[in-house]
Amino acid sequence: MPDMPPEKTRCELCNAEKKLHHASGYQVCSACRVIIGNVKNHPEIIRKLWLRFQDEPILPEPCRVEQMEARELPDVVNGKRYRTIDRDQNKWYLSISEIEGSPVEVFASTAFDRNHELQSRISDLTTITRLISLILRHIFLGEPLTLDKCLKQIQRSSRQRNDLPDMLYGVLSRYNDNTPQHDDPAPRPDA
Ligand SMILES: [Zn+2]
Repeated sequence: MPDMPPEKTRCELCNAEKKLHHASGYQVCSACRVIIGNVKNHPEIIRKLWLRFQDEPILPEPCRVEQMEARELPDVVNGKRYRTIDRDQNKWYLSISEIEGSPVEVFASTAFDRNHELQSRISDLTTITRLISLILRHIFLGEPLTLDKCLKQIQRSSRQRNDLPDMLYGVLSRYNDNTPQHDDPAPRPDA
């Protein structure tokens, strides 16, 4: 019998020692063959999973980032509202907006919304839900997360001068000097 050339036994992609298959010019294991097939034929699945599990854009080109930035919340979204009662027996409504089954925004409301003595508590609450919503949009819609955006959400949560979000905004904007800003030209000077 003629000598056969030694067969390659390691997957070219993951290096596993397994039975190999030909796929798009690679000699790969069956798991990697499935990956190649999906990247080639179903990039939308890969993109979806990548945004979910990797904290970075799948393609780091600027054009892609702009595209992702352009994806905004539609005017009408589905939502679910949950009624809960906290440890002090206050009734709460927690609302979750959904796009394709993923949470992209949260709101919390409660009866003490109308209590004027609790303005600062409400602004803290707004800060929490606005920042959670920003993170959710980053995770599920691929919206880029920047200091500028965090600052904007914190600033909008403030209800009166020197409440917690206002103070946080003042301190954190000092770190935003080098970022080109669109709306807010400069950190607020000391008063
Ligand atoms: Zn492999």
